[in-house]
Amino acid sequence: MIKINEHFAELPASYLFTEIARRVAAFQSSEPKADIIRMGIGDVTLPLPKACTDAMHKAVDEMAVRESFRGYGPEQGYEFLQTKIRDYDYKPLGVDIDLDEIFVGDGAKSDTGNIGDILSSDNKIAVTDPVYPVYVDTNVMAGRAGELLPTGCWSNIVYMPVNAGNGFVPELPKEDVSVIYLCFPNNPTGTTLTRKELKVWVDYALEHKALILFDAAYEAFITEPDVPHSIYEIDGAKKVAIEFRSYSKTAGFTGTRCSYTVVPKDCVGYGKDGREYQLNGFWRRRQCTKFNGTPYIVQRGAEAIYTDEGQRQVKDIVNYYLQNAKIIRNALTAKGYEVFGGINSPYIWLKTKGEGSWEFFDYLLHEKHIVTTPGVGFGPSGEGYIRLTAFNTHERTREAMERI
Ligand code: PLP
Repeated sequence: MIKINEHFAELPASYLFTEIARRVAAFQSSEPKADIIRMGIGDVTLPLPKACTDAMHKAVDEMAVRESFRGYGPEQGYEFLQTKIRDYDYKPLGVDIDLDEIFVGDGAKSDTGNIGDILSSDNKIAVTDPVYPVYVDTNVMAGRAGELLPTGCWSNIVYMPVNAGNGFVPELPKEDVSVIYLCFPNNPTGTTLTRKELKVWVDYALEHKALILFDAAYEAFITEPDVPHSIYEIDGAKKVAIEFRSYSKTAGFTGTRCSYTVVPKDCVGYGKDGREYQLNGFWRRRQCTKFNGTPYIVQRGAEAIYTDEGQRQVKDIVNYYLQNAKIIRNALTAKGYEVFGGINSPYIWLKTKGEGSWEFFDYLLHEKHIVTTPGVGFGPSGEGYIRLTAFNTHERTREAMERI
């Protein structure tokens, strides 16, 4: 008899986006002529930068010729891309990263989800509330989450509320935790930590021999000088942090798939006997066993981001979305709403004027024909908030704001 991984059966159905889709479909069938503006899902709309598509076309041609054809590549990525990452993404920050600390992947979702493979199921996990659901669900699958409580939280996960009351800065957990997921700029709240605020976490991790899994998928949207682009800007972070980055929102790679993860050789975990192990070696082993590399063509596309032309084009894309974020922020603020995020992020987190998240979601859908994401779907502390994304066109974003 086949035995299942029982933890999958414990996972509730992915309720949030299914429920949104259900409500939108029901509304659309009752009002088929309604012109719905979608500001819910976190997918991009602008096409790939030309520098990237040119590089990918060239790579496709190379694949068509015996002399330049490539088969399996290195599991951790081609050196041509790792070098660019080191020189463009870290050197300017004063951060020295070795090429063998950079692992090119096929998405920050896969890597933040798979990283748990190298960690014991005994670890106590901490996440912010609200949170990007992948961190929680992958820990449920791995048996680290405990039981699902009526609150919607898991008994063995420590939730760190972030809300307007604490300025969206999570407080250090009262109980000892060993793995902490931090995502800044944050999805869903769009908020950030300053260097000083992030240092508190690095110091905590150093003191408690804990690991920070730092998701910097939205790093390219940072505009303010005091917001760190990498956790390695903080002293000591290389000993306690793994960083995830993605080209998805930066360069429109959501469907093309390319990302990278930095696992410094200084970063260690501990065996039952207290012995230190380099997590870099563990992740390399994991990737070499379970992953055969991001496609060559895609890595050539990502490499082109680091040309002058590519840098310019990516900046234009990011600025386009940030401009939308500004339109949303300004319009909603003028309407008397308290809004957060949208300055270093494509997400705007709106505090309702007392309505519940789903109630406000329904109001916007039915009265204004705008789809958003109810904040409570990201965790109990998201109740009373909704998330709007800046990934639509300027025209549709303006129109949505006019409707509100
Ligand atoms: N991390 C966060 C916080 C995200 O919001 C997302 C996507 O929405 C991802 C990771 C996934 O990115 P990728 O497309 O690289 O898998």
